[in-house]
Amino acid sequence: MQSAYLNGSFLPLAEARVPVMDRGFLFGDGAYEVIPVYSRRPFRLTEHLRRLQRTLDGIRIANPLSDAGWMRLIGEIIARNEPEDQSVYLQITRGADTKRNHAFPAQVVPTVFMMSEPLVTPPAAQRETGIAAVSAVDFRWLRCDLKTTSLLANCLLRQLAVDAGCVETILFRDGCMIEGAASNIFAVRDGVLLAPPKNHLMLPGITYDVVLELAAANGLRAEVRDVSEGEARAAAELWMTSSTKEVLPITVLDGRPVGDGKPGPVFHKMYAWYQDFKARVMRRA
Ligand code: PMP
Repeated sequence: MQSAYLNGSFLPLAEARVPVMDRGFLFGDGAYEVIPVYSRRPFRLTEHLRRLQRTLDGIRIANPLSDAGWMRLIGEIIARNEPEDQSVYLQITRGADTKRNHAFPAQVVPTVFMMSEPLVTPPAAQRETGIAAVSAVDFRWLRCDLKTTSLLANCLLRQLAVDAGCVETILFRDGCMIEGAASNIFAVRDGVLLAPPKNHLMLPGITYDVVLELAAANGLRAEVRDVSEGEARAAAELWMTSSTKEVLPITVLDGRPVGDGKPGPVFHKMYAWYQDFKARVMRRA
């Protein structure tokens, strides 16, 4: 039975309920985080809590808990769930009002929800052959750096990939590659790793930082700069990264092979560094 947390109590996930007047339900007015847990240890928790604070500040919700309070609650939800490797989801909405009104209520208590799911890494076949992606114009808002629960655009964009039998949708805006519908995207060109810069158009991924750190630690040249749509389409390699997908090679984009259509040599190196890092560091983070 999955144990969840809602507004001060732990309870079975299937029993967790929020009022229909909750602004999370009515407006998608909330922030969230997804924290991978390896061998019962949350990975990069300080960084996830920092990103959560940035989102809360950006949407003007007071953080209902201190970092120590979050750490305690996250530790407890991990302990109450069975898997050794988990994906902890937490969400804070602005709370429930008595009437529907776009403007914030004068007095409102945020809703705090957490659940844990088993952390399932991608099947080996996806790593061995790579995954297929489609592309789309990024029609999301201009604060994609905030991890808010208003994810309708991301859902519609990800569904384009699913409808085409693919795994991810790569988003382009004004001639530049931005990110995936639910991942960050890297390109490799002439042996150099290219990463779109963090700005208001892209979610600053925790895995994105790990990949750039591993590149630096292992002497792989990396450039953090705008990546044009042309460069992305002509890249030797494309990868997607996220906390749950780790690093996956994209070998088909819009039905055409990326590079030679196989996971490339730079991916193979990064994947090995990532797995080594996971075994050495993440499992005792
Ligand atoms: N971009 C978007 C839009 C995402 O939803 C995610 C997370 N699923 C990421 C990037 C990757 O972030 P992280 O590495 O922190 O999981």
